[in-house]
Amino acid sequence: MSVRTRFAPSPTGLLHIGSAHTALFNYLFSRHHGGEFLLRIEDTDRERNTAAATQVILDGLDWLGITHDGETVFQSARVARHAEVAHQMLAAGRAYACYCTPDELKAMREQAVAEGRPPRYDGRWRDRDPAEAPPGVKSAIRLKAPRDGETVVEDLVQGTVRVANPELDDMIILRSDGTPTYLHAVVVDDHDMAITHVIRGDDHLTNTFRQVQVYQAMGWELPRFAHIPLIHGSDGAKLSKRHGAVSVLEFREQGYLPEALCNYLLRLGWGHGDSEIVSRDEAIRLFDLDGVGRAASRMDYAKLTHVNGVYLRQADDARLTHEVLQRLAHRHDLALGAIAAQRICALMPGLKERAKTLVELADNATFLARTIPLPFEPKAAALLTPEARLMLREVAQALAATDFSPAALDAALRTFAENSRRKLGQVAQPLRAALTGSTTSPGIDATLAALGRDEALARIAAVT
Ligand code: GLU
Repeated sequence: MSVRTRFAPSPTGLLHIGSAHTALFNYLFSRHHGGEFLLRIEDTDRERNTAAATQVILDGLDWLGITHDGETVFQSARVARHAEVAHQMLAAGRAYACYCTPDELKAMREQAVAEGRPPRYDGRWRDRDPAEAPPGVKSAIRLKAPRDGETVVEDLVQGTVRVANPELDDMIILRSDGTPTYLHAVVVDDHDMAITHVIRGDDHLTNTFRQVQVYQAMGWELPRFAHIPLIHGSDGAKLSKRHGAVSVLEFREQGYLPEALCNYLLRLGWGHGDSEIVSRDEAIRLFDLDGVGRAASRMDYAKLTHVNGVYLRQADDARLTHEVLQRLAHRHDLALGAIAAQRICALMPGLKERAKTLVELADNATFLARTIPLPFEPKAAALLTPEARLMLREVAQALAATDFSPAALDAALRTFAENSRRKLGQVAQPLRAALTGSTTSPGIDATLAALGRDEALARIAAVT
């Protein structure tokens, strides 16, 4: 049987990094086994703005390059099928109608709590004749769960997990208003979508016992389950906003590359030797559930930034230029035309060596899109002393006669420094300040070449 996994997010308005982690593992597992990876939007909570919230998930997956097979399934479109299955269970005696009123259920709960028992439904309609139903009360349908024995899950990550059946009450599968409950809907959908492996966060493990009981009641074959550990923050608590970014979109805004984020997520909870940088193709080749550990992993933002720096250095210059221009597009103080693009692309090999995120990269590239007069950072302004300005006039003369290739520029600056008995840095630092308004940039030769002769000389002239 070929592997079929699914990612089943609830549209909450964001794609949480933990959900993206789950999606990635499902995707890699299916691709590794040459199977299929499906997407189901669990949109039965009508209170929310589902269309916009769904789009956020689709955009996030698209950005991460986690592509699914087939049409997206919307759980809300399947409620009639969920109800149909509930009625089949009723007809087969594996479920029953419960006519308890909300008040009655509340009283049952309160009494259980008062007596120190867990607030479970006591099964009072399990064997009662529906003819005794009070008038005007609509029934809910409850699963006739086994009363003794245990429910066992052979989890591919957690191992064998079991619960004593008396611990579980007869859960509602269809509410009195005819809508399915979540735990029931998931089972019907996973069955109908022929899912072979349910890979999800281990916060769902307790739900699994109840879901297994639904499969058993219907006589359906169980999928394999794999409950993967959640991502925690540095303090060991479940990852939340107070730890840092949690939504995939936020990571995107903070300048992370999707392949870096995926690589980082892959290594959270899955290991293969010491290799830290694992490409997508390699991940597909190597990924399997036996490499997934049971311990919760901790989100390490500094490590992610490091991995991002590695990917940034490998990334294509034209792509990075495009990203930088997009990030600067809102800046009205810059001249963001074709010339800026050309300069940024020309200097990209040097720029990307020095940045760990696209935000940093865009900051460092900004000077290339500025117009004269440049703003000067205090440290750069301090370098432009009267003597330095005099020297820069001479430098300009030397440069005017030079071919503007990095090699020729480097040679010209070295000759100038030698002839004027200065160290190269004594020439390069004021020059850098004049050209960039700051004290840091890629190599001065590459910086000059990227600006081009006219602009470089004009920037020097503006301070001398
Ligand atoms: N919709 C659930 C969630 O977003 C996932 C359910 C499942 O994977 O079974 O947490």
